[in-house]
This record gives sequence, C-alpha cells and structure tokens, in this order.
Amino acid sequence: MGAVRRRLTRSGLSGLLVTHLPDLRYLSGFTGSSAALVVTRRSARLFTDGRYTAQAAEEVKASSVEIVSGGPAPAAVQWLAAQVGVEFAGFDPAWTTVAELARWKQALPARLRRNFLTPIAAPLVETLRLVKDEDELRIMADAALMGCRLFDHMLGFLRPGLMENEVAAELEHQARLQGAQGMSFDTIVASGIRSSLPHGRATTARLPRRGFLTLDFGIIHDGYCSDMTRTVYFGTPKPKERRAYQSVLEAQEAAVAAVSAGVSCGDVDEAARSVLRNAGLGDAFTHSTGHGVGLEIHEAPRLGAGQTSRLQAGMVVTIEPGVYLAGEFGIRIEDMVAVTRDGGWVLTPTPKALIEL
Ligand code: ZN
Ligand code: ZN
Repeated sequence: MGAVRRRLTRSGLSGLLVTHLPDLRYLSGFTGSSAALVVTRRSARLFTDGRYTAQAAEEVKASSVEIVSGGPAPAAVQWLAAQVGVEFAGFDPAWTTVAELARWKQALPARLRRNFLTPIAAPLVETLRLVKDEDELRIMADAALMGCRLFDHMLGFLRPGLMENEVAAELEHQARLQGAQGMSFDTIVASGIRSSLPHGRATTARLPRRGFLTLDFGIIHDGYCSDMTRTVYFGTPKPKERRAYQSVLEAQEAAVAAVSAGVSCGDVDEAARSVLRNAGLGDAFTHSTGHGVGLEIHEAPRLGAGQTSRLQAGMVVTIEPGVYLAGEFGIRIEDMVAVTRDGGWVLTPTPKALIEL
C-alpha cells in the first residue's frame, strides 16, 4: 500500500479506484470475484457484497472493508467523493468499460461528474506488480515445479491414438489432484500438423504415430500462474524436424542466457531471433520471445523485437521461441525465468532435449 500511495502522490492524484481483480488482490489480499478498492493518501477501503463478508474479514488486512448491496464500484466512487481532500480520483482505463464509467459517474453528485474521475496515464498497480517480492517468487517457483511434475506425469500417459482432449483432460485432472486452484489458460495440446498452430487448443484430433506434440499449459497456485511448453515427438523425427527442434532449443537457451537485470527486453528477444534467423527459420518465428507472468498469465513486460524496457531483478518472464511451418509442423519450448541481478533463475528445470516417444 505504501508504494501505491507514493505513486499516487507523484502523479498528483489524491485517490485511486481499483477494480481490476488481480490489482485489487495484489494490494488487499482479497480473492473474491466482486469488489472495488479505493486508496487515498490516508486510508484504504474495500467494497464488496454480502457473499464475501466472512472471506473479506479473513483475507483483507491492509484496508477496511464495507459490505454493500448495490455494485461495489459505485459505492466506492461515492465514498471517495465524500472524503475531505480528495479532488480527483484515478482509475485505470485499460480495465474500465465505457458502460462502467457511465455507471460510476451516475453515482456521483452532478457537479463532480465531469472531472472527478480521471483516467491514469500509465498503469499504476501493474507497474508495482512487475517486480515480485520473496514471498511471490517462492509461490511462483512452487507453481512452476508443480507444472514440471505434471509434465513428467504426462510423459507416462502420452501415446499415439489418444485424443488431444484426453491429453488435456488428464493434465487438468492431475493438476487438480496435486492441489492446483485451476489452469492459468486453456491447455494447448497441438499434435501433428496442428502443432504448426501456435495456439492450438486441444481438439478431438488424435495423436499421430509420427509427428510432434506441443503441450503448453499452466496452473494457478496461491493465485499465481505458471506457464511452460515442451514439444515431444512420436516416432523418429525426419532430419528436417530434428534440425528445426535443435534450432528452437538453441534459440531458447540463448535467450535464457541473455536474461539479466538491466538487459533490454528487445535484446533478449533478439538473442532467440538471431539464432532462428541464422538457421533460415526467422520467418517461421511468428510471435515474441516471452512475456511477464504473475497473478495474470500475461503481464508486462513483453519480450518482443525492439522493446526498450529493461528487465529488473524480481521480474518473472517466460522464454518461449517457436517455429511454425504451416501444413508441416510446429515446435515451441518455454521456460519461466526469474530475473536476478546477474542472470536468470530458471523456475522450470524440466530437461529440454528432444524426447522421442
Ligand atoms: Zn505457455
Ligand atoms: Zn507463455
């Protein structure tokens, strides 16, 4: 809360309305699905509804709690407007619909409707969330290791002829049994020619006797997301397939090795991209090298071409180059890496040499 107040002061705002649930959770600890949090220079108050009375009392330490019967956000706006010394309240336009803003304004006295609510120029809480503290890193390392154990389990389960959906179901079932709160995104199971779709969600397609299988999945543990990808092969790869896999692996390892505090995100991307370019696969690498991860599966920073923002110790990013040859095959390898002062700590130590099943 202290950090968010300092930023509020710096941006000349006397109050902040937080409705994006991951931001709200980060600041207050509240994990329910309906709430609004207001932060002023002096106090903080969380508004939620009667379903969450007991949960809010247990989870929320850093602010007072008010149970309301209408929507929490209009109540929060009214409360803010009634505070002495709060002239303008910021909100994050990236997480506010036009309809919501209209509703919030309706909750204000007429004289405040025009100017009281101010869109903040740059994300305020998301910026704080970029750098993880020790507790967050520990949770994320556990989440990542849980993902690695799931992958190991899947190696014993996979066989040609299974439906991709069966693979996803087994993985998600095991994740629940191991204590995951859920999956951090729809599990990607892309086999055979479908592996050339970077985001091929599981379908009723059957795993081939010969060909690649890409598994990209993540679990939620204690609110934090994990994210990893491994690509395995059924049968014996053709020389072209083996070469392509080796290139992706080299690109991935080069980018992991480039991770360090102070390095620009674009330089990490280039470390992977240049390897694939030199292998003649530059055009087949159609997305950025990675992204931040935390309470949300995709957070800042983006590790893409030309990105000038710099990595900081405590950020957690994915490194996930891939190549996709339409109608043939695709390969992606993804690790989660915590940025340290002088390098990177790979949170997903599952081996990456090509596995032939
Ligand atoms: Zn992924
Ligand atoms: Zn990812």
